[in-house]
Amino acid sequence: MKLRRIRNQTGWYEVMSHCPICGQKGWCAINHDQTIVHCMRVPNDDFFDSIIGRQYRHYLDESKRPQTPIEIEQVDSVPKKSCSHLNRVYSALSQELSLSSFHMEHLINKRHLNDKTIYARGYKTMPGAERHKIAKRVISRLSDQSDLLGVPGFFVQEGKYGPYWSMTGQSGLMFPFRTIKNEISGWQIRVDNPPLELKLKGAIKAEIVHEIEPDEMEKRRALCKINVQDKCLDVVLTEKDKKICHSKSGNFVFSIELKQSQRYWWWSSGSKLNGASIGSPIPYHFALPSPCLPYWEINQSPDALIDCSEVWVTEGALKADKGADALLKPFFGLPGVGAYQLILEPLKQIGCKHVVLAFDADIVTNEEVQKALELCAQFFAEHTDMSLSLAMWDLSQGKGIDDLTDAGFLPQVTRLV
Ligand SMILES: [Zn+2]
Repeated sequence: MKLRRIRNQTGWYEVMSHCPICGQKGWCAINHDQTIVHCMRVPNDDFFDSIIGRQYRHYLDESKRPQTPIEIEQVDSVPKKSCSHLNRVYSALSQELSLSSFHMEHLINKRHLNDKTIYARGYKTMPGAERHKIAKRVISRLSDQSDLLGVPGFFVQEGKYGPYWSMTGQSGLMFPFRTIKNEISGWQIRVDNPPLELKLKGAIKAEIVHEIEPDEMEKRRALCKINVQDKCLDVVLTEKDKKICHSKSGNFVFSIELKQSQRYWWWSSGSKLNGASIGSPIPYHFALPSPCLPYWEINQSPDALIDCSEVWVTEGALKADKGADALLKPFFGLPGVGAYQLILEPLKQIGCKHVVLAFDADIVTNEEVQKALELCAQFFAEHTDMSLSLAMWDLSQGKGIDDLTDAGFLPQVTRLV
């Protein structure tokens, strides 16, 4: 298990490999003895609120404890700067990054956006190479080299001729996260080629040898080496095709699944020299309908441009952007369905009276989301006098609010008690 020391929290580590509770990477924490996990994604009645969001306490029993040796990352990062500082640097970065034709086509053909909107939203491409040259040009737009210190995504690389600034992360499509004051406070990257990985449980060892051509359904495949009961085999596995093996008596022996690793990542450099972590607090995204954007000045409250008495909330930046344009309402994009406490203060500041939650339609089937929703309703009732509604639609009309409006439908809004 790969861990990273958490600042100001002695004995606690961020889980950089898969969290034993939710299976995702990053953001969740574990104690030194590896007996307690503070998971950010899987709700539980035992929880507490912190600056990075609601943390759910899960006790690990002996069998769930990670068996692999612990690696602890060396951290030479610095604390994250203020939003106004981040905005100054990220705006300069915006001017130095372009949008590749590949990403432009993706946004037009797959996401049904037009080029005017794409330009107004400021989506960018993180290129695969020559990043230090971009960092250098960003510095030349600012006052000083040290302006990049404490800005997630940037870090110092040790070169042959001395240290220099560069940018971290996999290449992909970059989505800016904006505050209610129109400051860019962070970026998420939609990775172009998420690597394949194996999810293993039980008495099996395995590794990916290399990826092979996809099958006729366009599912990714890989040649894998597996080791079961001292027998070594070469097998071809297909993405999401989980194999489960039981003994003759019906007991679970092992399971193996080939998966694509996470698609969306924060642009964060907390594990690198002079870099900074995106967390504490993690950004939320606030979206206005794109026709408002040319008139929205930095530091200007959005209620000067649009009625903010009713605000919609969804998960993810792109969904919020698309929702704002489809319904002509202000939208918050949460970094996760459980992260609603991040937007409590911003909602109050813009004068919201009515919150409409528009999470994905699989909410009725997804137990975790259901639980998060209940806790969310409870949280709003305890901390605000805002009314709360739920936007619902049939899953067959689309999964997300963006899929729904793309298909020409509108959600049904029901007041929650
Ligand atoms: Zn977790």
